[in-house]
Amino acid sequence: MSNASPASASAAASAISAGHRKVLEWLESSDSKRMLIGGKWVDAVSGKTFETINPSTEERLAYVAEADSADVDAAVAAARRAFESASWSGISPHARTRYLLKIADAVESHADELAVLETLDNGMPLSFSAARVAQVAEIFRYYAGWPTKIYGTTNPTDSARFIYMLREPMGVCGLINAWNVPLVMAAMKIAPALACGNTAVLKPAEQTPLTTLRLAELIEEVGLPPGVLNIIPGFGATAGGALVAHPGVDKVAFTGSTAIGKQILQSSASNMKKVTLELGGKSPNIIFPDADLDKALATAVATFCGNSGQICSAGTRLFVQESLHDEATERIAQIAATYKVGSPFDADTKLGPLISARQMERVLSYVDAGKSGGARLSLGGDRVGNRGYFVEPTVFSSVSNDMKIAREEIFGPVLSIIPFKDEDDVVFKGNDTEYGLASAVWTSDIARAHRVARSLKAGRVWINTYAEGDPVMSMGGYKQSGFGRELGSESIDAYTQTKSVYMRL
Ligand code: ADP
Repeated sequence: MSNASPASASAAASAISAGHRKVLEWLESSDSKRMLIGGKWVDAVSGKTFETINPSTEERLAYVAEADSADVDAAVAAARRAFESASWSGISPHARTRYLLKIADAVESHADELAVLETLDNGMPLSFSAARVAQVAEIFRYYAGWPTKIYGTTNPTDSARFIYMLREPMGVCGLINAWNVPLVMAAMKIAPALACGNTAVLKPAEQTPLTTLRLAELIEEVGLPPGVLNIIPGFGATAGGALVAHPGVDKVAFTGSTAIGKQILQSSASNMKKVTLELGGKSPNIIFPDADLDKALATAVATFCGNSGQICSAGTRLFVQESLHDEATERIAQIAATYKVGSPFDADTKLGPLISARQMERVLSYVDAGKSGGARLSLGGDRVGNRGYFVEPTVFSSVSNDMKIAREEIFGPVLSIIPFKDEDDVVFKGNDTEYGLASAVWTSDIARAHRVARSLKAGRVWINTYAEGDPVMSMGGYKQSGFGRELGSESIDAYTQTKSVYMRL
């Protein structure tokens, strides 16, 4: 494996792009990044700030205003005022379309900058963040098409009545995001929320607040009325907890761990908030021997290494038929060994750092669990360098589905290769998990492909591919991977409610 010095982020600085230079200026433009409440950039009521760290260098990128319950109160009040005001609730759907289109344009015209900032704050390779920014523009554009198509219905009845149903926004939405793809998650929540006429208070993850703040600046510049979108950076237990429990919030959309998702479901019960939860996964990626093996194995590596494994839908349980196990393991290890771990600004880097020291320690503790649990370590397993949170692509083979590394979400570049006997066996094992976020099947037998796709209990199934997405397709989890769906028309359902109107003629 070619593991160039991961601390070489500064080496890349010699050839930084115009976008990179703008980001450095933006970071230096203030002592701390403020929060957005009611159209104004403000400090926390407490005056507190917290640091956000570059995971490649362990250096501080910025101080950020730290919201707690007083700021959440102010943000929810601002969102409520905006929701009630004619400058938002009274405007035509065409006007909401125009706002969303302008946001998409603003994202595209600042794409370099946003990609660099995402890479600095999160550590994802620059090519990966650039692709995510393109996705963000696409999501805003997709939802820009919706405001004029959110129909109610005129319903059949007798001649003495006129009855119809209106589809209306929920009101104030509390949006809480994880750190692994911050901008995409922000777009997946902000775009449908605004398309449907809601207002929002968004808490980005404490590890990665910067791109959400920069996106909010761009959104402000398109002239959105004050208070329609509010951003409150801060920690989960304080800012997040206050937002979820707030009686002025009508709906909560959350992306994060299953454990916190369960807490959110409980605390949003206080005023019966409508809730959507996008949670963890331990997705089966199933390869039958009749598949295009070159493609299947190369994709298997790309999916468990993508974003250094910090993707909730990553194919972390790779099922291969027993006869194929040794060959597949050898080829997977060979391919993964060519994946360069290093500065996310180097063009040939495939794996940037993990998000934090805590996450790196967690991932390495799973490597220990794999070894002590009896799996065969076929590649990797160690930290790379001693600065930045870099971990090698790690492959365990001869894993059984009941081992800890096959049951728990690791959120790092760790693959478990699990042998199976036949189709029934792999469908059983693939589904034998508390999660159900995503899955894949590789085969040249069309009937088997669709049979297995139907049998897998997961919100997404890929056939002879992995990790493809499109804003027109919803995503979400079966079982403990979630509650409700994001993207597609299902997000429109999730950010609206219906009202039945009866009139006697
Ligand atoms: P991870 O373990 O990957 O950081 P979490 O589920 O802990 O995932 O965090 C995801 C998001 O949820 C973050 O924005 C975090 O601040 C927030 N969060 C954490 N705990 C709570 C909580 N008790 N209430 C509301 N939000 C929370």
